Amino acid sequence: MLPSFFDLTLADLTDVLVARGLNKFSAGQIYDWVYKKHVRDPAEWTNVSKETRAWLAESYDFRLPKIVWQGLSVDGTRKFLVGFTDGNTVETVAIPARDRLTLCVSSQVGCAIGCTFCYTATQGLKRHLKPGEVVGQFLAAQEWLTKNVGEDARLTNIVYMGQGEPLHNYENIKKATQIYLEPKGMGLGQRRITLSTSGLVPAIEKLIEFPPVNIAISLHAAHNDVRTELMPINKVYDLERLFKAIKTIPLKAHRRITYEYLLIDGLNDGIADVEGLASLLPKGESKVNLIPFNEFPGSKYKRPSEKTVFWFMQQMESRGITCTVRTTKGTDILAACGQLKSAYEDGRLNLWDDRSQTRPTNASTSPQVPAPQ
Ligand code: SAH
Ligand code: SF4
Repeated sequence: MLPSFFDLTLADLTDVLVARGLNKFSAGQIYDWVYKKHVRDPAEWTNVSKETRAWLAESYDFRLPKIVWQGLSVDGTRKFLVGFTDGNTVETVAIPARDRLTLCVSSQVGCAIGCTFCYTATQGLKRHLKPGEVVGQFLAAQEWLTKNVGEDARLTNIVYMGQGEPLHNYENIKKATQIYLEPKGMGLGQRRITLSTSGLVPAIEKLIEFPPVNIAISLHAAHNDVRTELMPINKVYDLERLFKAIKTIPLKAHRRITYEYLLIDGLNDGIADVEGLASLLPKGESKVNLIPFNEFPGSKYKRPSEKTVFWFMQQMESRGITCTVRTTKGTDILAACGQLKSAYEDGRLNLWDDRSQTRPTNASTSPQVPAPQ
């Protein structure tokens, strides 16, 4: 099978052209065709030499991942099930807000971290996604939106908050981010990308080598015993180690650090948690995003009442910590945080054979994720 063109950063593309004895300056023009003009067929790149076009066409796969299924929530959130050449699938979710359309992308098929509140965790880790599969989620979703919703449906922001732990797949996510940011290609702004991590300390310490995007830390508890219950990773990298690592993040570059705090009924939503959290967070530079727990089939926790969520927020604000509550989006189609899971878990589907697509791709209001086959 040919390697995917979408795995190549601009620097990689330049390198392969040079290695082949081809004009390295074509790299920028090729990026322009593919990412700005959305012309993926080398035959149509009129300002690129015939030799270069022919070689790329026979050496790389220019196909995007397939949208196997999509569903629209009553609140406008749209979930896509995206399939790759090996039959694996991930979910990617487009979330509209007033002035933006954010794509929540997956970084792995499943996840190895095993948080006890997360649906993705029940799947375990199947494999890392390649850069082209991460970039491909955006391109495939955008292509679908343009075709089916219209030219105005432009994705503007990216959050690495889908399935998987992005820093566990550091090198591939770094490359994907470089491709998203490349001014000669998609040219997304650094502030438009947010990477969320469960707290993989060695990778956080390497963020100095990562493009300067926004960073969100999934904290979820202010005490080690509670955090360990929720996130087994805390056994290895506890709160002390985590905050030591966070201090190494070059703040000027990674401008904003957001702390995500899941609110679970009776577990981490009391006054001791408010006080613990307020004393833990570096003053002045911290923003907390409260996420009321989203329930999923088989989940053992409960979402607190709206009153408790509001109380928690006020308590934090009265201690001088900026706090927002994440509005839950897409729960009716299991597209909210923590509700994502690859629907076709066995990878038995041959996505490249259209006859095997048992799900209609235009099922716009399915109330459920497709059942595993
Ligand atoms: N693995 C990364 C990014 C993906 S998860 C991380 O954990 O940060 C994205 C966000 O969804 C995280 O903050 C995660 O804690 C949150 N989340 C997971 N399960 C959830 C659930 N059931 N309800 C609400 N948020 C959840
Ligand atoms: Fe993985 Fe994030 Fe889910 Fe934890 S919350 S299991 S790190 S995807």
